[in-house]
Amino acid sequence: MEYTNIAYVLSAVLFILGIKRLSSPKTARSGNTVASIGMLIAIVATLVSYGHLDFKIIIIGMIIGSIIGAFFAIKVQMTQMPQMVAIFNGFGGGASALVAAAEYFNPANPSTFNAATIAISVFVGTLTFTGSFIAFGKLQGFISGKPIVFPGQKILNALIAICLVLLGTYTVMGGSDTTYYFYGLVTLSALIGITLTIPIGGADMPVVISLLNSYSGVAAAATGFVLMNNGLIISGALVGASGLILTNIMCKGMNRSLTNVIFGAVGLVQETSASGDGKQMLVKSASTEEAAMILDAADKIIIVPGYGLAVAQAQHAVREVADFLEAHGKKVLYAIHPVAGRMPGHMNVLLAEANVPYEQLKDLDQINPEFEDCDVAIVLGANDVVNPAARHDKSSPIYGMPILNVDKAKTVLVNKRTMNPGFAGIQNELFGFDNTLMVFGDAKATLTDLLKELKEL
Ligand code: NDP
Repeated sequence: MEYTNIAYVLSAVLFILGIKRLSSPKTARSGNTVASIGMLIAIVATLVSYGHLDFKIIIIGMIIGSIIGAFFAIKVQMTQMPQMVAIFNGFGGGASALVAAAEYFNPANPSTFNAATIAISVFVGTLTFTGSFIAFGKLQGFISGKPIVFPGQKILNALIAICLVLLGTYTVMGGSDTTYYFYGLVTLSALIGITLTIPIGGADMPVVISLLNSYSGVAAAATGFVLMNNGLIISGALVGASGLILTNIMCKGMNRSLTNVIFGAVGLVQETSASGDGKQMLVKSASTEEAAMILDAADKIIIVPGYGLAVAQAQHAVREVADFLEAHGKKVLYAIHPVAGRMPGHMNVLLAEANVPYEQLKDLDQINPEFEDCDVAIVLGANDVVNPAARHDKSSPIYGMPILNVDKAKTVLVNKRTMNPGFAGIQNELFGFDNTLMVFGDAKATLTDLLKELKEL
């Protein structure tokens, strides 16, 4: 037991060091490795401490799990990462609930404390399981990404919540046979996971996933108390806390409260456009040849990557263009918005993959003053994060979201495929501004053409 706890403390230290290293793209890979070693130590210590286990079944389980994990790690695209995290959270919550449920049926330890931790773990774990799968379905397009709302939804949720409190209390205090209360608790926890998640729009799913991630940590910590396993308590608490911090960062990035994300049903009314009066917007488009000439005449260029760049897998193409421009004496910077893409750090990870130097990546506060004396801002597959309506249009769903002030640059080149809106589902008035030129096309193809044109100048 003593050695096991020492191993758990060592794991916890490695988890914390790993998380610390994850906060910078430079050290993130090693952070992952450090945390994985921590997890390996925790798993080995747990298996050794329960010496009488059937290792054959455990090893088969580990092999199957490792194959599935490795397969998805290799196959899943960066843009599908939120869905994958959703599934992992769901399984994490489900696993905690199952372990706690197994303890419920174990008569060896019938204390009230034990029953209470079981009830909490089963409630949070099951809710996380069903909620995460709804989030996955919404992002993957299996379920409508629009908020699904119906009359009396909030009242229904309130009633389920009251029943859950009662069932939880009866499960803990109900005396000798509480099995039916327990089953009721499981069923209603699963139901509330669904009813709380369906009214949230697809655009807010990454925030919900981060919150569910935090819940899966809480469920694991509760199961840790059920089993009196310090490793599980510590790691569950770490996941719970870091999930909450991430949720907070995302909400701040969008200038929304968590209550607004969960109960606001944002995305339901898509008709109201940020260009306000519903008038057709006049835009000017340019060819890659014209764009190349504009860039050739510029001294300071800021590249703004967005979700479309990730979809097009254009990270290498953009670095090649940037390298060429730099080699021709121009100053090139990248503007990274905290919620550009589909999860925090999405753009950093993507550009790091293409070996873009970290020194060129500037976050919102650092880069916004730089637009004033910037000759050209190139917006690549970004939309909401450069929408000036966020600064002044109180009716816009993204009003108040801090944005990259690309419109302050002398010329703005916007690359996207069509005039379709971005994630928030609203038009972008930037595209109609006098200093904006649209360069339509897939980001990777456009950048490849642009490089060719630049070389021919
Ligand atoms: P947006 O979703 O606003 O816009 C992306 C744009 O990319 C679209 O307008 C699309 O236009 C274009 N696009 C798609 N495919 C391509 C392609 N192959 N080549 C070129 N362009 C393409 O992205 P942003 O990054 O600006 O904003 C992120 C959004 O996600 C924000 O609304 C944010 O709030 C939300 N979000 C982000 C989170 C995060 O943590 N990062 C969390 C929660 C929400 P077209 O179809 O015409 O090509």
